[in-house]
Amino acid sequence: MLTSLHSHSAFGAISTAIVIFIWNRYNQDKRLSILVFGLLGGFVARIPDWDLFLNKELHWDSTNMAHRSVYTHSIFGVFLFWIAFLFLIYTYNLLIRKYSDREKIPWKISSVALSASILSHLVTDAMEDYPTRTFYPFSNQTEFYGFIPMEVYHSQYFIVSSWIIGFGGVVILHLIEKYRLGKVTKSN
Ligand SMILES: [Zn+2]
Repeated sequence: MLTSLHSHSAFGAISTAIVIFIWNRYNQDKRLSILVFGLLGGFVARIPDWDLFLNKELHWDSTNMAHRSVYTHSIFGVFLFWIAFLFLIYTYNLLIRKYSDREKIPWKISSVALSASILSHLVTDAMEDYPTRTFYPFSNQTEFYGFIPMEVYHSQYFIVSSWIIGFGGVVILHLIEKYRLGKVTKSN
């Protein structure tokens, strides 16, 4: 459990940051903060596992509602989260436009970037030995799991490596962008 908390945040952060890094590269005038989105991605990556709470408190433990249900831990789940992000950001922008003059959040790219974090959750979960219907609705099979031996998955070494790759990666992407922008400004 502890391992998955760490690895989800770390891989969620880097996945979101990669999408923003690519977006910034091709949309120089609409750049978004890699660091801020990296942090958001790290947070969002934890959300699918909140179904553990529903499971425990509300006893939603039928096949489709149990932990790692198809609504939170599948391709279908990623789609649902994407729709939810689109809706939330769009609503936020509407409120911003009405009540403040703060800048709006580009809702399409932001929702895609955050969904990448949810997708990374599925990939990280596939490492652990726990049945997950990852490819639902395209397949209802549960054999897509347990890619990493449990003694490795639950080791300190794995947690530390996740943090270095995930959060270290976000900082490196941020620095690469800064360096590249510095060069562009200089050459102008
Ligand atoms: Zn999970």
